[in-house]
Amino acid sequence: MKKINLLLTPGPTPVPSEALAVMSEPIFHHRTPQYRKIFSAVSEDLKKVFRTRESVFTFTGSGTVGMEAGVVNFCSPGDRVLVIEAGKFGERWREIAESHLLKVISLKAEYGDVISKEVVRSTLKKNKDVKAVFGTLCETSTGALFDIQGIAAQTKGTDAIFVVDAISGLASDRLEMDAWGVDVVVSGSQKGLMLPPGLAFLAANEKARKRIKEAKCPRYYVDLLRYDSALQKQDTPFTPAITIVLALRVVLDKILAEGMEGVWSRTERLAKFVRRRVHDLGLELFTNHLANTLTALKVPGEINGEELISVMRDQRGVTIAGGQGSMSGKVMRIAHFGLVSEKDLGVGLRILEKTLKEFQAGSKSVKRLKVCK
Ligand SMILES: *Cc1c(COP(=O)(O)O)cnc(C)c1O
Repeated sequence: MKKINLLLTPGPTPVPSEALAVMSEPIFHHRTPQYRKIFSAVSEDLKKVFRTRESVFTFTGSGTVGMEAGVVNFCSPGDRVLVIEAGKFGERWREIAESHLLKVISLKAEYGDVISKEVVRSTLKKNKDVKAVFGTLCETSTGALFDIQGIAAQTKGTDAIFVVDAISGLASDRLEMDAWGVDVVVSGSQKGLMLPPGLAFLAANEKARKRIKEAKCPRYYVDLLRYDSALQKQDTPFTPAITIVLALRVVLDKILAEGMEGVWSRTERLAKFVRRRVHDLGLELFTNHLANTLTALKVPGEINGEELISVMRDQRGVTIAGGQGSMSGKVMRIAHFGLVSEKDLGVGLRILEKTLKEFQAGSKSVKRLKVCK
């Protein structure tokens, strides 16, 4: 039997073999026509994935670098901002905002829940000085999808810009930056873009870009003015992650050949497939606001979720994700975007079923394992 080695986590995600292959090519210098040609092509093609006419800037760093760029380039210390928080990544927006001395109004909901556009509308009505609203397309810690289109409609016509973390949601759940009027979109490489970790992206429209010059949050590495003037010359201000940019060229070809509509409907199909199967297994979904990117499940009461996940990973070759922070041991998360196929998910779910049954039967062999966290 072929050894199973499946990565079904919502980041990092499996990387296509063609992309792995270009990353083993000899490194070359980036201040060259050869690199500029590739970089300008990927920068153009990224617009099609973000569904925008605006420039998409590329940073070297994990997705959070893009989030920090999305705060410091548009805000000044003391600015009042709204943060939509119903999971770990919403909380990260608040932490970044607070560490740059912004005054945060937190719109909080339980993990698994969402904040409605009506709540955003009434909060903005009562707080006319709000400079920015920070939200998340797919809250990866809970599997919940937020109504980005609806919320964007509330910030339109106000002074507030809407900054969206689409790090896991880009190229899996529908996002129409220009058509929906989202002002800033941030993403990263190791999720729907099927790349190794190491690149972050940011696109900003004119309403947001007007803020950059007056925004007083101190910044250097992520200062968009540097990236903007570099991009005019098909360049980045600092040494780019050349290797990952080469792979980006390959995955963008793949994504655009399928088309965004194709990508979104495939992810939706896989999400439905997984939900039918987990329903048959008697497992409960963690959220009612289902994203197509991943499925978060409640760990059945009597089972230690972290232990179950380690057994699946270390003994059976199927890596799914557990819960983050306070959700540790309580949720299991299965990703179904990027390169993951229905066949992979079928195998992963069979292993989950088998392991669950063993845990439920109280098998000593699985329970005595040490868990490394
Ligand atoms: C993965 C993820 C991040 C964090 O990205 P890093 O690459 O770990 O910095 C932020 N937000 C969401 C929604 C994510 O899924």
